[in-house]
Amino acid sequence: MDELSIHNLHAGIDGKEILKGVNLTVRKGEVHAIMGPNGTGKSTLAYTLMGHPSYHVTQGEVVFKGVDVLALKADQRSRLGLFLAFQYPVSIPGVTVANFLRTALNARRKSQNPEDKGIPIPEFRNMLRDRMDYLKMDHAFAGRYLNDGFSGGEKKRTEVLQMAVLKPEIAILDETDSGLDIDALRIVSEGINALRGPDLGVLLITHYQRLLNYIKPDVVHVMLDGRIVESGDADLALHLEEHGYDWVREKYETALS
Ligand code: ADP
Ligand code: MG
Repeated sequence: MDELSIHNLHAGIDGKEILKGVNLTVRKGEVHAIMGPNGTGKSTLAYTLMGHPSYHVTQGEVVFKGVDVLALKADQRSRLGLFLAFQYPVSIPGVTVANFLRTALNARRKSQNPEDKGIPIPEFRNMLRDRMDYLKMDHAFAGRYLNDGFSGGEKKRTEVLQMAVLKPEIAILDETDSGLDIDALRIVSEGINALRGPDLGVLLITHYQRLLNYIKPDVVHVMLDGRIVESGDADLALHLEEHGYDWVREKYETALS
C-alpha cells in the first residue's frame, strides 16, 4: 500500500519514553500537519521515522509500501522513498550540494533498478539547474559545501531542492518554518506547494500556524505528551492559533480521567 502507516508507536531517547502510542496514516497525495507545544515529541517522531540511531523504538510498527520501516537503516528508508528535512540541518564541509545530491539520487535510482548506472553528469547538471530555477536559487549554490555557512533560509531552500531532485514519496518536514524571514518562508512554501501532487505525501511538523497560511494541509493533528490527541481539517490550525492548546489538553485529560 502506498501509505505510511504508524501504529501504536512508542519510542524514546536515553531510556526516556517520549512517544507513547502514536497512530497516524499518511497517504500519497495528502498533506498532514502535526502541531503541538514544544517538547511534546514532534521532532522525536520525525527522527524515529527516519531511523536516527539515538532513538529507540520500544513498541509499535511503521509500514510503508508493505515494508517494515523500523527494520531498515536510515539510508534504506531514504531509498524506499522516505525523506526527512531536519529542524537543524547538518553541514558537510568538503561535499558540494551538487555532489551530495547526485550521490543521493544515484543511490535512490539504484534501489529502484539494480541495473542503473547512475545519471549521466550532463543530464544531472541540466536537471539540477532546472530545479534550482524553479526554486529561484542561484546556480552558484550547487558548488558550495552542503549547508556550510548557509543562512537559515538557504538551508531550508536546499532541503526543498533535495526533495525536488530526489522525488521522495513521503516527505517529513520538521519545523521548516523555523528561522525563516517572510520572504524565505514564501519561497520555501512555494517550492513545497509546487512539489505537491498525487505522488507525494507530506508530514509537516510545525509549532506555528503561520506556515499553514502558505501550505494548506488536508489534515491537522495535535500532538500532546507523545500522542496524537486531536485531528481535524485545516480549520483546526486556525482554531489553535486563536485559542492555544489548553482546550485540547483539558479535553484530553478529561478523556483520560
Ligand atoms: P518537540 O519537537 O515537540 O518540541 P522533541 O521531540 O524535540 O519535542 O522533545 C520531546 C521531549 O524529549 C522533550 O521533553 C525533550 O526535553 C526530550 N528530550 C529530547 N532529547 C532528549 C535526550 N537526549 N535525553 C532526554 N530527553 C530528551
Ligand atoms: Mg521539534
